Amino acid sequence: MKTQTIYTCEACGKHFSRANEAYTCEAQHMCLSLDLYYRYLSLYKDISDRSAGLNAIKGRRSKKVAGLAYERAADSLIAFGLKHKTS
Ligand SMILES: [Zn+2]
Repeated sequence: MKTQTIYTCEACGKHFSRANEAYTCEAQHMCLSLDLYYRYLSLYKDISDRSAGLNAIKGRRSKKVAGLAYERAADSLIAFGLKHKTS
């Protein structure tokens, strides 16, 4: 038996046999180069991780520090979106 992984573009649903082909398709939907799309994904993951971490923190002081880190991550994603006109 042979197992095959299929990658799907989240924008159009097209299937690919290689992950970078699906990423390339998604990048094209956002009018970004593949390198810039990877940067976008990194910023998006950073803000998602910080959001999850913020919700898990109980201490007031720790929550404030995590909140500032979240705001910085959000600012980075917004700045990226403004510079590259993503939506
Ligand atoms: Zn696509």
